[in-house]
Amino acid sequence: MTDVSCPVCEGASAILYREAKDLWFHSPGVWTYFECTSCQHVWRPIEVGENLVDYYKTYYTHTGARKEKGWNCQSKDLYLNFLVEDAFPRTLRGLFLLALMSLRPTARSNVENGIVELRQAGVRAGESLLDYGCGDGRFINKWERYGLQVSGYDFDSEVLANLAARGLRIVDDPSSVEFENVFDVVYLNHSLEHFAEPEKELSVIKKVLKHNGKLICVTPNSASWNHKLFSVHWRGLEAPRHINIFSETSLRTILENTGFSSPLSLSNGRGFESVFWSSIVSKHQSLGSGSRVIPLRIMAAPILHLTARLAKSLGCGEELVLVVTNE
Ligand SMILES: [Zn+2]
Repeated sequence: MTDVSCPVCEGASAILYREAKDLWFHSPGVWTYFECTSCQHVWRPIEVGENLVDYYKTYYTHTGARKEKGWNCQSKDLYLNFLVEDAFPRTLRGLFLLALMSLRPTARSNVENGIVELRQAGVRAGESLLDYGCGDGRFINKWERYGLQVSGYDFDSEVLANLAARGLRIVDDPSSVEFENVFDVVYLNHSLEHFAEPEKELSVIKKVLKHNGKLICVTPNSASWNHKLFSVHWRGLEAPRHINIFSETSLRTILENTGFSSPLSLSNGRGFESVFWSSIVSKHQSLGSGSRVIPLRIMAAPILHLTARLAKSLGCGEELVLVVTNE
């Protein structure tokens, strides 16, 4: 199996991991990952008879989102209002909860996730957005608050049926003619890596986008320092659900292959700290998880923050964030 060529640039490849396991959601089996020696694209070949949907039965998209309650939830909600509507709370308690967010960088970044990219891409209220690979639709509400007309698509039909039952707009077959030239924005929010044939998906996306519409894509960076440090325990590998893990080079190449022009922007700055902690807990289980790691997280935060900034400046940050216009 060593002569498999890169699915993006057709370059030579080598086996990167021979027996990667599902460390996060425990699907049975082991999977082989390859790395392209030219463009650093990491992928795993699909085996005959493999049904990708099987790996999602224990995934968060099927087990239901953890419902947040109380002051934490209210604080985040007020911050989202402030972000999308410039709205200040009208009560002292509300102002206090909003002010509290200035001390909570992780919570702040959770709320900003998905909003800053829209701003960066110049997306305006009233536009239509297709959440491509929407999972349990957890971003749909946030984007509706931004003022967008949001529809969701996922290859998992059970997930789509759940969304439809909740009254959300769904697209069951984006390659159908009725969706050509329909959307102002397509958002691939940590979903491109889940598709077996990303080139095919990007060609479909090119068709559903209006002329001058925007594609926004957020996906793990195969060249991240976290990947180098934690190898098969890296949270971004997530075998077997992550099938294609891009580098900046392979992402640019696949865009060219599918007729997109040069990206408006391509950065790699987000998610370093959170992925560092979930990867280290996977690799060193003796650390324990959750609250046991909190004191360590607080002590290490300044060093990790500086490391994340250095990694970003060298192209080795955690997530690739791409914005490209459909010209
Ligand atoms: Zn390649």
